[in-house]
Amino acid sequence: MNRLIGIYGASGCGRGIMPLARAMPEAVGAQLVFIDDTPLADRVNGHEIWTFNQFAKTQAREKQVMLAIAAPDVRSRLADKCAAAGLPIGSVRSADAIIMDDVEVGQGALISPYVTFTSNIRIGRCFHANLYSYVEHDCRIGDFVTFAPGVRCNGNVAIGDFAYIGAGAMIRQNLTVGAGAVVGMGAVVTKDVAPGAIVIGNPARPLEKK
Ligand code: UDP
Repeated sequence: MNRLIGIYGASGCGRGIMPLARAMPEAVGAQLVFIDDTPLADRVNGHEIWTFNQFAKTQAREKQVMLAIAAPDVRSRLADKCAAAGLPIGSVRSADAIIMDDVEVGQGALISPYVTFTSNIRIGRCFHANLYSYVEHDCRIGDFVTFAPGVRCNGNVAIGDFAYIGAGAMIRQNLTVGAGAVVGMGAVVTKDVAPGAIVIGNPARPLEKK
């Protein structure tokens, strides 16, 4: 086989990434499969679902894996697993995504339809920018960060590794979201968020434990 592309995760995220992967120029002539450790079927949306071992042992001239699972810690663990098996991590970018000047995005990014990155931005490994999200000027985003759909990240925001930003959240300019923080759906973040904190609401406040 010439080229084999695996979309790791055959659930919601993976099914949203597969059509984008299929449309990439590198996919011409390639076989595209889902990889899933607990597959619920043999196929989905016209693509076979393979186990990781099946993917790893199948001979191909070129292979790559896209990590299409929203949870940051799971992506990180699977990136290590792929590295240990010598499988390169690939990126996917929707053709309509807008990326302006001086934007550096690390390996393994999945950039969904209608995403915009403006200028002078640095993003680490395996970023997920889901549908309609934007990243404004001068942002610094770490490794394995997830933006759910519709995240509005304004200028000069720093986001630490493994942060998860929920759907429709808005982050004010010039602040920091710490590593491993979770920003709830629709939150309006007006102050720094501590590492590991969970914040919700408008204005966003730490979730109180009951
Ligand atoms: N999964 C996997 N290996 C793991 C963790 C998850 O193959 O170590 C698969 C899991 O079986 C499921 C998918 O990844 O099919 C994650 O789906 P989920 O709906 O939880 O999340 P999403 O698609 O929204 O990221």
